[in-house]
Amino acid sequence: MFGPPGSGKGTQASRVAVQLGVPHVAAGDMLRSEVARGTALGREAKPIMDSGGLVPDDLVVRMIDGRLNEPDARLGVLLDGFPRTVPQAITLDKMLGGRKEMVANVISLEVPEQELKTRILKRATIEGRSDDTAEGLAQRLVVYRQDTAPVLEHYRAEGRRIVAIDGVGDIDAITERIMKSLQHNDAPVGSA
Ligand code: ADP
Repeated sequence: MFGPPGSGKGTQASRVAVQLGVPHVAAGDMLRSEVARGTALGREAKPIMDSGGLVPDDLVVRMIDGRLNEPDARLGVLLDGFPRTVPQAITLDKMLGGRKEMVANVISLEVPEQELKTRILKRATIEGRSDDTAEGLAQRLVVYRQDTAPVLEHYRAEGRRIVAIDGVGDIDAITERIMKSLQHNDAPVGSA
């Protein structure tokens, strides 16, 4: 599941994962949990996350690889916020290839930038996430355009179908759009 900050990626990913019956593997949530627990990874990640930058690829890759090795991930997962760079995508392809698995569906949630800004600043007053500041958001948008948008091109070049979903509107309606588009895909739903 791809989408810029504020696109509703996390909300939609958790709902779609429930409907598919696969674990929701959210890189951002896992990192925030490392920060909350004060682990070595969390201590390294926190200042980077607060400034809106990306945590180094090798740290994130190790974290996700560990998660994919857990028994509940055997029949597939919904990845949210990973891969976020082309090197992460290439590493993921190798990791999955070794398991005879692949990225089956690439979902891109699309929301205009002005709407993203309004949503994030509203979320800041509700959830108090330490990276939901005007500067943090601006930086995350730059990083999304520079580092994450090329990941979609990577999958397009590999011949994977990219399903673009309009991320504006009613939350339930958007979930339904995603589920419908997955049903129309020939690739097996639910495998990674
Ligand atoms: P959002 O999509 O709103 O930016 P996330 O919860 O997905 O929120 O990510 C929050 C932050 O966690 C990112 O800005 C980044 O610092 C870090 N992060 C999450 N996923 C990755 C990743 N795959 N690689 C590097 N950093 C990541």
